[in-house]
Amino acid sequence: MFYTSTRDKSIKVTASQAIAQGISEEGGLFVPCELPRFSMEKINSMVSMSYIDRAKTVLKEFLTDFTEEELNYCVEGAYSAEKFSSPAIAPTVNVNGNKNILELWHGPTCAFKDMALQLLPYLMTVSAKKTAEGKTIVILVATSGDTGKAALEGFKDVADTKILVFYPVDGVSPMQKLQMTTQEGQNVAVCAINGNFDDAQSAVKAIFTDAEIKAQLADKNMMFSSANSINWGRLVPQIVYYFSTYCDMISMNKIKAGDEINVVVPTGNFGNILAGYYAKKMGLPIKTLICASNSNNVLTDFLKTGIYDKNRSFYTTTSPSMDILISSNLERLLYHMSGEDDKLVADLMKQLSVNGKYTVSDTLIKDIQSTFNAGFASEDEVNETIKTHFDKFNYLCDTHTAVAVKVYDNYVAETNDDIPTVIDSTASPYKFSKSVLSAVQDGKAPEFDEFEMVDKLYEVTNAAVPAPLANLKNKKIRFNNVCDKKNMSEMVFKLLDL
Ligand SMILES: *Cc1c(COP(=O)(O)O)cnc(C)c1O
Repeated sequence: MFYTSTRDKSIKVTASQAIAQGISEEGGLFVPCELPRFSMEKINSMVSMSYIDRAKTVLKEFLTDFTEEELNYCVEGAYSAEKFSSPAIAPTVNVNGNKNILELWHGPTCAFKDMALQLLPYLMTVSAKKTAEGKTIVILVATSGDTGKAALEGFKDVADTKILVFYPVDGVSPMQKLQMTTQEGQNVAVCAINGNFDDAQSAVKAIFTDAEIKAQLADKNMMFSSANSINWGRLVPQIVYYFSTYCDMISMNKIKAGDEINVVVPTGNFGNILAGYYAKKMGLPIKTLICASNSNNVLTDFLKTGIYDKNRSFYTTTSPSMDILISSNLERLLYHMSGEDDKLVADLMKQLSVNGKYTVSDTLIKDIQSTFNAGFASEDEVNETIKTHFDKFNYLCDTHTAVAVKVYDNYVAETNDDIPTVIDSTASPYKFSKSVLSAVQDGKAPEFDEFEMVDKLYEVTNAAVPAPLANLKNKKIRFNNVCDKKNMSEMVFKLLDL
């Protein structure tokens, strides 16, 4: 299998080249030239497999330049029992009736990013050995909170790698901030920036493609790569759990092999939902992919009208990992849905960077709408959803998951389409204790410190506290750096000791 670029389809690289490089030279994103097809028989044969074996079955179709030993080493290292608190790795839980929740947060940082970022360092070091022998890979990350911690945890002390993480100074939850500033490891550094996530992401992208900076790194035998979901190695592990939840739905007798399901995804950078789209294209019976946004509803508007316009107010919400106005992975969807029109995609992305806005044709948006539905939830609706789901079903969800649950409830009310559905749950409620506690208690959250908040949430709900969050209490703060977005490249040099 080969990969090409969304902005220049004359490019042809292997999986390991795509993963080691992160982003294509001209700024496009790597996408598979064609997708493997899974028959229903093959999917059915995965029902009795462990998560690790399901992962191997899916990934080997995409990573065709990895040997079987390499793939086994990667997958078994990533999804080991000591790293994930659930033996199912990503369990599917029935809430009531046809409403099921896919819990993607049982990894070491308690957010769904672990599903990909536990595997990515393995994929990247194996890829680098094949394509960039001897170079130190420098991972630059812009994070809205969860990616940063999950990437730090995945890459810490991995030989021949360094990782630098930038987060918006006021844009992450107290727990997320603590997780990052206390990070252990010899090859890690963390810095806050004065700006929002989009500022951090744009600056990181600019540093990546800056020829002068690249040359200076090459001099020191280093190269950049990306752990953001623009990297194919971030997306491909996410395809696995859609197959896995479908298999679990069969085991749970919620569906029979071949039945269609709907999937709802709390969306930010469009990576998670795009992985669901790939699973559908590969033959998994997904009927509709429902894209859920918070008040930063740029994707809802795009999917309803075909106009993408990031020129709008930016809201800091209680679901910070979705506070995003430039959803990078939409570029990949546009490429596939436009019949692989690289010229069109390059032109739309140019319009986006110059005017902050683009419009797609009627035909294109109608095609997209035949697979995708979209909606958004306000802050009040998120709070109300957390409370009612806890009171009625004894299910405690975090703020991001609550966005998806609310958008799904609205979808069913509008369409009466209530076939068996999987809603992605992307974070442990304890990552956002204050917001969740205040929702459960009708807005009454006392001014506790973060750990008292965790204890109080446990007292009120009795939901299990994940050990990695409880253990943070005893860790020392290691990183206090703050910089302006225009000084990020100097900060990169400083943190790398160049
Ligand atoms: C990253 C993240 C999201 C958004 O996922 P995308 O793949 O960027 O769309 C949603 N919820 C949580 C908790 C996250 O960490």
